[in-house]
Amino acid sequence: KKRTGNELRELFLEYFKNMDHMVEPSAPLVPIDDDSLLWINSGVATLKKYFDGRVIPENPKIVNAQKAIRTNDIENVGFTARHHTFFEMLGNFSIGDYFKKEAVEYAWDFLTNKQYIGFDPDLLYVTIHPEDEDAYRIWSEDIGLEPSRIIRIEGNFWDIGEGPCGPNSEIFYDRGPSYELDSPAGELYPGGENERYLEIWNLVFSEFNHNKDGSYTPLPKKNIDTGMGLERLASVIQEAPTNFDTDLFTPILASLEEISGSRYGRDEAVDTAFKVISDHIRTVSFAVADGALPSNEGRGYVLRRLIRRAVRFSKDLNIKRAFMYELADTVADVMGGFYTNVRERRDFIKEVIKKEEERFLVTLDEGIRIYEGLRDEARKNDSVIKGEDAFRLYDTYGFPYELTQEYAGQDGLSVDEEGFIEEMKQQRERARNARKSGESMQVQSETLAGITEPSEFTGYQSKKEEAVLTH
Ligand code: ATP
Ligand code: MG
Ligand code: MG
Ligand code: MG
Repeated sequence: KKRTGNELRELFLEYFKNMDHMVEPSAPLVPIDDDSLLWINSGVATLKKYFDGRVIPENPKIVNAQKAIRTNDIENVGFTARHHTFFEMLGNFSIGDYFKKEAVEYAWDFLTNKQYIGFDPDLLYVTIHPEDEDAYRIWSEDIGLEPSRIIRIEGNFWDIGEGPCGPNSEIFYDRGPSYELDSPAGELYPGGENERYLEIWNLVFSEFNHNKDGSYTPLPKKNIDTGMGLERLASVIQEAPTNFDTDLFTPILASLEEISGSRYGRDEAVDTAFKVISDHIRTVSFAVADGALPSNEGRGYVLRRLIRRAVRFSKDLNIKRAFMYELADTVADVMGGFYTNVRERRDFIKEVIKKEEERFLVTLDEGIRIYEGLRDEARKNDSVIKGEDAFRLYDTYGFPYELTQEYAGQDGLSVDEEGFIEEMKQQRERARNARKSGESMQVQSETLAGITEPSEFTGYQSKKEEAVLTH
């Protein structure tokens, strides 16, 4: 029987508990006490307080399963097998306790020991930093890995901005030739275009601190920070072609099949929509559970964008109504055992998502009507939608520019992109001048007028939101 995602998470925590690690609970996605990050994007991001010495942990060996959001991966979602905007990172950490050798040995044991994951060692490859001879020696001599499986990569230096950093070593799983894409077949790195060698675990050997002023200083004590994607581990264990084919996602896909009447697994464009929507509903559900809300700025804008992106892709499934919020129930069912707040707050989560979806649908309807007018005009003239018109559609009606482009493409028309960009520039200029010439009250009330619902932010988040509204 293949292990489920939930079982794998437990197995990882259990393994490191047995190795005398203390379990650190998964922290909220909205960073506490940290202005340098919009979202928690890795396991280590929530443990900075230990790494920089502000807090001394009861036990210097720590293990966690941490929720993470990465907005930089948004364009990948739906198109690669392995990227999400929300995922779980499994990590073990040493705060000035063990270092490289033990970190490598734990990872190798967990992955290859039949009692745990039991991967065939011949399917594993590792990368190291070109100058990290310690890492090379440990992998080749202590572990006994063939030198040809140890690849030196210039980019193997881990740095997330302010905080601990250092060289790293990553573990890749060879999924076999059937996963090779057209582009550089057989090449281990970069993983970008090639799904054959799947990056599963990153071991960071942190030796430096990246300071607020941008300088680097050696850490008083060396640390270990590791991160393994639960969804990727599950995909290999479950022999699932993509993360979306693991049991962490299939119930969400099944709910979406029910809602849409479309089937997953038959058509590429349809599958992309399934992936995008099932990814984004997880992100939005967890973010709202952790206190974020859709808005026009910062974190809230990320949620708004994710919901709008999902709604746009729902058009490929012929969905014509607010639907996404219903999937929040399935997310709660799949994930609520470990992350109890997505279950406890499910009604609130659904309400927030539903409202946002409905609002966007109204925007879309209005925008489409205006667009149709522009289309008819363009057809009579030079088949080009004017930049200023596309801008007005965006600025006054909140209609995304990409949609104008998409519809125009379908109608055999083009959009004057330069003109659009020029209008955007001019608008920014106007806003800047208005602020300079003391008309900031007007700009401010325009900003406020655009927000029709009161922001119900809590705690530290409301401070940020206020700061934005009164800038
Ligand atoms: P990739 O090169 O595949 O984008 P990464 O090098 O950016 O991954 P790390 O920052 O090293 O990833 O994060 C540690 C681990 O977290 C990765 O090895 C992977 O298993 C997982 N991971 C990273 N980004 C994502 C993502 N967007 N979705 C799912 N899992 C991820
Ligand atoms: Mg990445
Ligand atoms: Mg990588
Ligand atoms: Mg990596």
